[in-house]
Amino acid sequence: MQDATRFWSKGLQELAPYVPGEQPQGGGWIKLNTNENPYPPSPAAIAAMHEALGSRMPMYPDPNCSDFRKAVAEREGLDVGQVFAGNGSDEVLYFAFLAFFRRGGELVFPDLTYSFYPVYARATGVPFRTVRLDDEFRIPMDEMVSTESGVIFPNPNAPTTVKVPLDAVEAVLRRNPDSVVVVDEAYVDFGADTATPLIGEHPNLLVVQTLSKSRSLAGLRVGWAMGDRGLIDALERVRDSINSYTVDRVAQFGAAAAIRDEAYFRETCAKVVATRERFAAGLERLGFSLPPSSANFVFAAHPTLSAAELLAALREHKILIRAFRGPRLERHARISIGTDEEMDAVLEALEHL
Ligand SMILES: *Cc1c(COP(=O)(O)O)cnc(C)c1O
Repeated sequence: MQDATRFWSKGLQELAPYVPGEQPQGGGWIKLNTNENPYPPSPAAIAAMHEALGSRMPMYPDPNCSDFRKAVAEREGLDVGQVFAGNGSDEVLYFAFLAFFRRGGELVFPDLTYSFYPVYARATGVPFRTVRLDDEFRIPMDEMVSTESGVIFPNPNAPTTVKVPLDAVEAVLRRNPDSVVVVDEAYVDFGADTATPLIGEHPNLLVVQTLSKSRSLAGLRVGWAMGDRGLIDALERVRDSINSYTVDRVAQFGAAAAIRDEAYFRETCAKVVATRERFAAGLERLGFSLPPSSANFVFAAHPTLSAAELLAALREHKILIRAFRGPRLERHARISIGTDEEMDAVLEALEHL
C-alpha cells in the first residue's frame, strides 16, 4: 500500500496540532474538561436561532455580520467599524497571527498559557519567545515586550486562572508602541477587567472575546475582536482572502440575541462565580493548593497525586477533568466549574480517593 502522507506539504509534516479536550458521546458524565458553561444559552438566543432557520436560509449570510457587530458595539460603546466577528475566537486569533505577527520580529507570550498560541505561531511561520510565569503563576508583564511583531496573553490566563490588572495591561500597551497587543478575554466575564475601555487611546490594542464560555454557546462558534478601525480592516482583509462567510446565518441571529440579553448573562456568570468560590474553598479543605481563579475553572494541585493520576481516579467516577503535560503543569489539574450539584459530586469523589 502506498502511504498518502507523502503528499503532505513540508509545513504540515512539521506541525504539532492542538489536541482538544475529549467530548464523550455517551451520557452520564460530569464533563469538566473543556470549560463549557453548565447553563443553557439565553432563551432569547434560542428563539432567534429558530427564527433564522425559518428565514432566508437559501441566501448567503451577511458577510459583515452587521447586526451582531452592532449589538457588540452598542454594549461596549464602540463603532461597528471597531468590531470584527469570526467563527469562534480561535479563528479570530488565527487571523490576527496572519495579519499582525508576521512582520519579522518575535511574538511574545507566557510560557504557561493557551496551547493554541505556539500551534498558530508555527502554522503561520511566526517566530516567538516565551516569558516565564512567576511561582504564583503571574505573568511578568514588564517582560512582555516585542519589537516588530506582537504580544499575546489571555486575561485571566489559561490554564492558570490568574488575572492581569488593567493598569498592567495599559503599561504593556505603552511599552509596545510598534507591536499589536492581543488580549484574549475568553474568560474575562468571570472576574477580570476588560481592556475594551483602552481601545480609543491605544491603536495597538486588540481585545478578543467569545460566546463560548460566559454565554453558554461553545456549540455556536462565534468570537469577535474589538480594536482600532485599522486593525479591524486588516482582519477583514485576511478573512476575505480565505472565506467571506465564516459566521453562518443561524449563528449571527443567535449571537446578536445572546449579546443583547444582558440580564441572563449576568445571572449565569454570577452563578458560576458563586459555585467556583464554594468549590475552591472545598478543595482547600481537602489540602489542594490553587492560585486564585478569575475564570470558570480552577487550576488545582492535589497534595500527593499528579494531575494525570487525579484525572484517572476521577474518570472512575465518570468525572472528566483536564491534565496537561510539561514541567510546571504536571501537578495542577484544570477543573471546569459546573453546577453546584456537579461540583458537590466532585468534592464527594475527592474525599474518598
Ligand atoms: C476557549 C478559549 C478560546 C477559544 O474560544 P472559541 O471562541 O470557542 O474558539 C480562546 N482563548 C482561550 C484562552 C480559550 O480558553
